[in-house]
Amino acid sequence: MTINLQFGNLIKIFNNLSPVTTEAKFDKNIIPSNVCKTIKRLNKEGFSALIVGGFLRDCLAGIKVKDYDIVTNAKPEQIRKIFKNSRIVGRRFPIVHVYDSNRSFIEVSTFRSGQSTLNDDGFITRDTSFGTIEQDVLRRDFTVNSLYYNYIDHTLVDYLGGANDIKDKVIRSIGNPLNRFKEDPVRILRAIRFQAKLDATLDKATEDAIEISSSLLMNISPSRLFDEIIKLFHSRDNIQIIELILSYKVDRFLFTELNNDSFLRAALENTARRIDANSSISPIFIFSVLLWSLRVKKLTEITNSRKLNSLIVRQSDKDILLKQNKLTNMPKWIKEGILDLWSMQHRLEKSRNSKILSDKKFRMAYDFLVLRSETINPNLRKTVDYWTKIQ
Ligand code: ATP
Ligand code: MG
Repeated sequence: MTINLQFGNLIKIFNNLSPVTTEAKFDKNIIPSNVCKTIKRLNKEGFSALIVGGFLRDCLAGIKVKDYDIVTNAKPEQIRKIFKNSRIVGRRFPIVHVYDSNRSFIEVSTFRSGQSTLNDDGFITRDTSFGTIEQDVLRRDFTVNSLYYNYIDHTLVDYLGGANDIKDKVIRSIGNPLNRFKEDPVRILRAIRFQAKLDATLDKATEDAIEISSSLLMNISPSRLFDEIIKLFHSRDNIQIIELILSYKVDRFLFTELNNDSFLRAALENTARRIDANSSISPIFIFSVLLWSLRVKKLTEITNSRKLNSLIVRQSDKDILLKQNKLTNMPKWIKEGILDLWSMQHRLEKSRNSKILSDKKFRMAYDFLVLRSETINPNLRKTVDYWTKIQ
């Protein structure tokens, strides 16, 4: 088995993969008890279990860790049997969610061989064949995501130089990025997300491949694309992410139209601050923001030929969501939430009826109005003052 990784002009060929194993330099106690328990339980049943991916990337980069992924040689059915409170999810990639008493879960997946079922376009349609750790590491997306951690002896297992790439802040595809993006174009968005997260650069081959391959994003199911967009924008790095999306010109595969204006940037900064403060964030808010400038444009176009009324506005709003939905399939509650949030902007602008205060969505609509008044609509300051005073 060989793998070529490009380092500048050098291509390094890894033959018969053997890992560099070193003592991990972080404090073992940062691993949450439910993660330790899951690992120990799998070990007790005779299976190996390692932490993989995002935790190690973020931990070594000194970034707040989001979640923990465990990988094991136990098959999904075996994992399912060991943990009473668990369930198998995912059709394309079966993994097991192991729940703890707080109803949060850890993802446990089985080493995969990477011998996926590809369709005629080279796109993965199924990836269920199980394998060894040496095979598993090669089917991961980027070297920064390819580290394993052995909790039992507190060692870091590095097959592909991922630790160095984290230190040097380079996002490098494992294998030929053109093939890897063809197999799964979502990796393009993941590359962008990790570039922003680690404040990294993409290695040249990966960056070139994004330009060549970005139209493959059209092959992604609209539901998966919706999930990925939420990950992109419900992130502390959302401002860098939007800039990267625009500079790689992938916005056209994600949105009907996107305008990186002062309102959008203020709203993204606001979301990032809320994430830092552990305040709640909502996909309704973020999509309402992302589509707002398009909405304003559509309504302005209509005003040129006829007078607006609430029915016409509603129809125009629905048309925007219908079109966007073809790209990113949004659950119904989110679409309805967006329509409400937009229509509440008019109610807050036109009415002084304090009944609105008891509306569940008042807070979100008020925040939205404040952001507009601070950026694109300074004429709304008095209206904002009114709602600030009476609430
Ligand atoms: P985060 O959880 O912070 O979004 P992550 O890297 O942990 O980042 P997950 O989606 O949790 O992302 O995936 C866990 C690991 O699985 C990744 O680190 C990577 O090794 C692998 N992986 C995830 N998605 C893909 C993919 N589309 N192609 C190849 N490998 C993937
Ligand atoms: Mg993860």
